[in-house]
Amino acid sequence: MSRYEAVIGLEVHAQLLTKTKAFCACSTAFGAPPNTQVCPTCLGLPGALPVLNGKAVELAVRAAIALNCTVLRESIFARKNYFYPDLPKGYQISQYDRPYSEHGHLDIAVSAKGSEAAKRVGITRAHMEEDAGKNMHDKGDVSIVDLNRSGTALVEIVSEPDLRSADEAAEYLKTLREILVFIGVNDGNLEEGSFRCDANVSIRPVGQEKLGTRAELKNINSFKFVREAINYEIARQEGVLEAGGKVVQETRGWDERAGKTFSMRSKEEAQDYRYFPEPDLPPLVLSEAFVESVRATMPELPQARRERFVRDHGQTPYAAQVLTTHPEVARFYEEAAALHGDFVKIGNFVQAEVLRDVHTQGLSATFTVTPSQVAELLQLVDKGDISGKQAKEVYAKLVNTKKAAAEIVKELGMQQVTDPAAIDEVCKRMIDANPKQAEAYRAGKVAMLGYFVGLAMKETKGSANPQMVNEALKRLLC
Ligand code: ADP
Ligand code: MG
Ligand code: ZN
Repeated sequence: MSRYEAVIGLEVHAQLLTKTKAFCACSTAFGAPPNTQVCPTCLGLPGALPVLNGKAVELAVRAAIALNCTVLRESIFARKNYFYPDLPKGYQISQYDRPYSEHGHLDIAVSAKGSEAAKRVGITRAHMEEDAGKNMHDKGDVSIVDLNRSGTALVEIVSEPDLRSADEAAEYLKTLREILVFIGVNDGNLEEGSFRCDANVSIRPVGQEKLGTRAELKNINSFKFVREAINYEIARQEGVLEAGGKVVQETRGWDERAGKTFSMRSKEEAQDYRYFPEPDLPPLVLSEAFVESVRATMPELPQARRERFVRDHGQTPYAAQVLTTHPEVARFYEEAAALHGDFVKIGNFVQAEVLRDVHTQGLSATFTVTPSQVAELLQLVDKGDISGKQAKEVYAKLVNTKKAAAEIVKELGMQQVTDPAAIDEVCKRMIDANPKQAEAYRAGKVAMLGYFVGLAMKETKGSANPQMVNEALKRLLC
């Protein structure tokens, strides 16, 4: 048992899914050749003026509402001054003392003594700002600067220091990412850097109220690394205190190869940035009517969706979880279920078959079948045209075709055997070939029935109606 308690607060930078940048009309598409998506404004050329992207404001407000934040009627853009090659203006347009939203919260699932519980994590504020460009150091003996990202609209979401372990921090990030993806604000892509996190970590003796000195871990780009970096940092700080030392406030990086955090620089303080109101932009004024119009078009949040799947569709909590792993998966399931009518059946089939072949990237997902193909396929099973086992075979043939399930059934010459005489014949043969097992069944070993059902289904290559096989066997084994 450690004498210390960890205290963690996260700063998340999430790119807003706008087609153009925050203050100019340049494209935000990822992956273009370096420095092809730039203009005088995002290059910081003298005299170029910023114009705020209205869509960015709408998405930022959407994020604030989803995080239960208060949206302020009036906020101020500020210049955050610092020099870095990826920041051509020499300052970043951000928000400082008057962000557009504050005082929210996010509920995360934590496991307390084996059972699930919810924990409320405070959101200090969310503010809008612009992204910097990217420095690339892997080009031999030169570094290059790509300014395509420069000026992309971001929302920075700052949490209260309410998290107490690496697991809680990871859970917070997962929940936050899921919400932003479900409401169409962010594509959740950690590898491409459109969802990034800085973790502030400190420790304090158990029972002490005063916070310890924090280290800020920069830009950790996977959930795995978040956990590892925080755990490493907690242990490192414990080591420092146990050796009688003091934790210094600093910015640290994560070396994934070494599995260690390392000191990058002493932590800069707000006054180092010489913040002042951005003279080229007026205060951002958001009317009540505007905020309400955004609220009115808010999509359902993932947690609410899961609860609805359980309450209205009869899904288990686990199934509801799986069916909401991606907004497009949830949409697929709901569409197929609406066409078919049996939510649980469709849910099971989507989980067992469809999800195996889904390819998701950011907000989009590629399926190998359509909801209507799946609904029709299961209708054929309901009607008794094919068995559940045959349905899997048909499904394999449906993949990447525009064909209807019934067409494939015809092509395969597949039909469920429902002829009582034919079924009786197979069952009799199985019984005759296995007299010992038949005797055991008659002597009271009822589990033997399953053995014979298995044999008969195998003999008919899964085409016999299992219900009828069951009944025939019971009758013939008497
Ligand atoms: P800065 O930009 O200087 O890092 P912010 O206010 O943007 O300041 O973010 C500070 C973050 O650090 C918040 O998430 C906050 O919860 C967290 N934090 C502040 N003090 C501590 C501390 N002593 N230990 C851990 N986290 C802390
Ligand atoms: Mg910080
Ligand atoms: Zn531009």
